[in-house]
Amino acid sequence: MFDTELPRFLDPRKLCDGQQTITGNVELSTLTGFCSYLLSDQGQVNVELHFSRDNAHRPIIKGHTAIKNVQISCQRCLDAIGIDIIGDMNLGIVLNEEQAEKLPHEYDPWLLEDKKLDMRELIDHEMILNIPIVAYHSDCAVITEYGDKETAQEKPNPFEGLQALLQKD
Ligand SMILES: [Zn+2]
Repeated sequence: MFDTELPRFLDPRKLCDGQQTITGNVELSTLTGFCSYLLSDQGQVNVELHFSRDNAHRPIIKGHTAIKNVQISCQRCLDAIGIDIIGDMNLGIVLNEEQAEKLPHEYDPWLLEDKKLDMRELIDHEMILNIPIVAYHSDCAVITEYGDKETAQEKPNPFEGLQALLQKD
């Protein structure tokens, strides 16, 4: 299902009018923005896009993107950690700022240039949006500057003190 590489450019108007669904993959190494956050550019993003028009005849794209075991650096030990990144998109295709402002809030605007949809640009943008803000090994152990071993699970619970206070009454 995802074994074909998507073409770089698609004609969204034609696809929306035809209510087309497109599945395929995009080489990770072509997504230069996304790759700048990663430790490896090997792999593919699986992409599924549904093109249609809504009740107001707006061209829209609902889609799903996913990549497994992508290598980013752990924020505690800075070593590589493999994570899965998935994204769901609900885009309204617009041709200018004015159309973007009128778009209902359920859609994210995607500004179309030259009437072509640049898949690299779209998937790159989508994957960057879905990078987790914090990622570290669940069993990560780092040596602190005092030589103590500190693990992720031993983080103090910020509500512990509060709970003790509440229980006093
Ligand atoms: Zn780690």
